[in-house]
Amino acid sequence: MTSVIISSSDAPEVAPGSTPRIESVVARRALSSRVYLPALSIVAVAVVLIAIGLSSRWGGTSFAASMTNLRVIIVGPVTVGILFLFLVIERLRPAQRRRFFARGYRQDVLYTVLNATLVVPLVVALSLSFAEVVSKSLPWIIVPQYEFLPRWLVIAFVFVAMDACNWSAHLANHKVRMLWRFHELHHSQEDMSVLTVFRTHPLIHVSYLITLIPGIVLIANGSITTTLLVVYAAVVAFEHSNTNLSFGPLNRVFCSPNYHRIHHRVEGRQDVNLGFALTIWDQLSGRAVFPTKETIRIETGLPGRPLTVEQSAPRARHFSVLAAQLLGPFRPLTEPVDVAQDHSELLGGRGLTTTGIGTSDLFDESAFDPGIR
Ligand SMILES: [Zn+2]
Ligand SMILES: [Zn+2]
Repeated sequence: MTSVIISSSDAPEVAPGSTPRIESVVARRALSSRVYLPALSIVAVAVVLIAIGLSSRWGGTSFAASMTNLRVIIVGPVTVGILFLFLVIERLRPAQRRRFFARGYRQDVLYTVLNATLVVPLVVALSLSFAEVVSKSLPWIIVPQYEFLPRWLVIAFVFVAMDACNWSAHLANHKVRMLWRFHELHHSQEDMSVLTVFRTHPLIHVSYLITLIPGIVLIANGSITTTLLVVYAAVVAFEHSNTNLSFGPLNRVFCSPNYHRIHHRVEGRQDVNLGFALTIWDQLSGRAVFPTKETIRIETGLPGRPLTVEQSAPRARHFSVLAAQLLGPFRPLTEPVDVAQDHSELLGGRGLTTTGIGTSDLFDESAFDPGIR
């Protein structure tokens, strides 16, 4: 690259001393043509958080005990029983008829295993570190123990507040391109089932750490219980299940499978029905689209399949698809560019945005609206 710069004889417009800047711009563009650089920021946040957690010995909390707790919530006997029940319901009352071992189901089994093994320690590390950072830097947000506060009220408040935080993080996942890159994996499922709840990129959990704040605020009042988290996880799993069952008269309060399916639809806006458990946040923000009998049959997935999916090839190569999906957020936004040619345009004084993929375009978050994907 450097030789291209030096050997160019028509660079009279280049101001003395500007070559290093051009070199850095060219180097960044060359890198951007191979990897989506903003995605590395989420890796950086995770690494910094884990380093803080390690150095503070996880704030005095037992890492092993926390791992056991999270495993109980994700794949403990009660959770497995609930998941099994939903899997049976999907066969008895399906929203859409699918083969018993549809490709999407098999792929989501891999994500279930991934969550139960590698994702658990990652989420525990991130959660303990985040809790340590928040409680150390903002100690005043932790309210003291109030004897007069009924336990059920604390738990109900945390349920609702946690759901509001999840909704906000989910909205950010749809509005910020860098986060969408990690979240689109969840939306890529074309054969939705209860196991689709596990189809998430491991690093997306960084964006959901704010969900811990209500529990941290009320920690002295016994806010977080395993039962609360299992019930919450069951509601979120149920809304992904391929069933025509719903919450009946409470359909306008809780997110039913038909309601959440609209969020996963392949055609139309996907930045609606962002709720995890409650529909109230969608209703307050004008993003609630209540389902009909017809919407239970709509197709799900991503238009144009921008991410490799298990349904796209003649044979479903689940492990290579898994690898491609996990690396998906880091793929470049565009096809690789001819850096040398691009650079000659820079030297010609035509600026960064005269070519088809100017650097400023690559990093302009406001130019992106996944809601209309
Ligand atoms: Zn979404
Ligand atoms: Zn979903």
